[in-house]
Amino acid sequence: MRADLSNKNRIVVKIGTSSLIYPNGAINLAGIDELAFVLAALQNQGKEIILVSSGAIGVGMNKLNLKERPVEIPQQQAVAAVGQSELMTIYNQRFQSYSQQTAQILLTRDIIEFPQSRQNVSNTLEQLLTMGIIPIINENDTVAVDELDHLTKFGDNDQLSAIVAQLTKAELLIMLSDIDGFYSANPLNDPEAVLYSEINEITPELLEQATGKGSPYGTGGMTSKLKAAQRILDLNSHMLLANGKQPKIIFDLLAGEPVGTHFYQRTEDEQ
Ligand code: ADP
Repeated sequence: MRADLSNKNRIVVKIGTSSLIYPNGAINLAGIDELAFVLAALQNQGKEIILVSSGAIGVGMNKLNLKERPVEIPQQQAVAAVGQSELMTIYNQRFQSYSQQTAQILLTRDIIEFPQSRQNVSNTLEQLLTMGIIPIINENDTVAVDELDHLTKFGDNDQLSAIVAQLTKAELLIMLSDIDGFYSANPLNDPEAVLYSEINEITPELLEQATGKGSPYGTGGMTSKLKAAQRILDLNSHMLLANGKQPKIIFDLLAGEPVGTHFYQRTEDEQ
């Protein structure tokens, strides 16, 4: 039996590009609309919701009619700058139809390295949550190139979502990907792979079972999700990894339905 997580109040939701963009490059407007519906409904129930969204480059490529992802970093940054504002326009429209206000927050690693910056971000987020506004967070791709050139480990949105969960003392991080959860091997290569319903510790064996991104639009792959999960376990908080194809899955996850993979530390009584 999966633990009932419906009492979790402050929730960070991270959505990957592959849930926002179809393989043919078109924007998944139906998925974005469903996500807005679910998050607005949770907000109406009195929960505090923060969305960490990838997708700026994918949406920018769509907007600029680019068939190939640009190779040069400045080109990627330009496409991300176009895509980020377009993505926020789409989010604003969809959330607006559910009478939900949103705000854009673009972050860099300063929030880890400089306590004052960290405090400023924390103050802004707390104020937005108090006002019932859903912050929509992404890395500031113009300033930080980590995610775009994959040179460092902290630059992807999986890490960013875990850092935001830590900063805001969120009780739950829901990571929506293009796959049902964490498997004993990448199901793309191994049809025998089995889904883990629950993980309580990130072992070297699990790290070996994780490989890279699954689609051209994916970013960190499972290795990056396990690293994010490690941060969450260190905080003694909870993370759910599930398929973002139908964001209404969030209702099932909170109700304790056995979908996705639940990362949490077992208490001594449960061991
Ligand atoms: P997103 O950024 O949308 O979350 P990613 O491509 O970064 O997507 O990560 C999801 C992908 O990770 C899956 O599509 C899958 O191909 C790959 N993957 C690698 N190893 C595993 C594993 N052990 N279990 C599940 N997925 C895995």
